[in-house]
Amino acid sequence: MMDAAPATTVGLIYNPAAGGGKAADVGKEVRRRLEWHGARVLVRTTSAPTEAFFIAAELVGQVDSVVAVGGDGTVNEVVNGLANRDVPLGIVPAGTVNVLALELGLPFDVGKACEVILRGHTTTLDLGRVDGRRFTLMVGAGIDALTVRELDPRAKRRFRELAFVWTGLRSYLRTPPVDFGVVVDGRRHRASYVVVGNCRYYGGRFGLTSRADPTDGVLDVLMYEDTGFGHAMAFVLGIPFGLHVRHPGVTYVRGRHVVLEAPDDGVVWFQTDGELAGRLPAVVEIERHALRVFAPDRARHAWEIPTPVWARPRMDEEVG
Ligand SMILES: [Mg+2]
Repeated sequence: MMDAAPATTVGLIYNPAAGGGKAADVGKEVRRRLEWHGARVLVRTTSAPTEAFFIAAELVGQVDSVVAVGGDGTVNEVVNGLANRDVPLGIVPAGTVNVLALELGLPFDVGKACEVILRGHTTTLDLGRVDGRRFTLMVGAGIDALTVRELDPRAKRRFRELAFVWTGLRSYLRTPPVDFGVVVDGRRHRASYVVVGNCRYYGGRFGLTSRADPTDGVLDVLMYEDTGFGHAMAFVLGIPFGLHVRHPGVTYVRGRHVVLEAPDDGVVWFQTDGELAGRLPAVVEIERHALRVFAPDRARHAWEIPTPVWARPRMDEEVG
């Protein structure tokens, strides 16, 4: 007898060269597992930046869901192709960094990640948008974007987080921070480093925008005004403990429309989801509930983990 239910069609996207061929192995494994459970799988491999975006956009209308195998870079491109199209996204982590997977509480084991997709439970996330490009995690303007720009890819592979810290320190000392205007829902601030966060986690399990919730329809904005090397070190060293938000140089607000102005002098770079995106000015906005993702139904999503009282930012206004 024929199965009454039509087979579900899944678009599977990965870059076979990513992670020294690791994404290819994981991709093949994902295909086997999904097909074993009766899914029709359309495999689409990528070989160049931005290709995953076009492939994902093309798959809309042909598939019931899309699965991305890779790190935050690949996922970001796929998300841009699926935003507001109501095609749920499955994520199987296989990159150097997968902060979105950490945020969602997704398993890093291939089999378990496939089970989450097969079970079919989804969570709907907000997406940020900066100059037309969507992001799931954040936009950073200032020292972190400069660090991404100056980072040696070989050092990144070999030394991971240490490479960021070292390159960041060198960039800070070589290029003194420049102040720029930040307008959040019409209210003006000044800062030399800004993170506009949709999610809580940053670069790993570091809650930089520690009160962010990617389902609440607002963006969390952390602004840091530089007052010298010692204060900058105190800010950085406070991050693992969530104490950076209590730093006197930090202003933490929420909003839906953020203008990052160009500085009067010099250049300030910005990054989205860990990729260099350009130089200021830039406008950041939110698209509420723009992406469905497969996620465990009883996960401890990062945004549901309570923040200890001593690590809560001082917020002078609550939005939404
Ligand atoms: Mg939010």
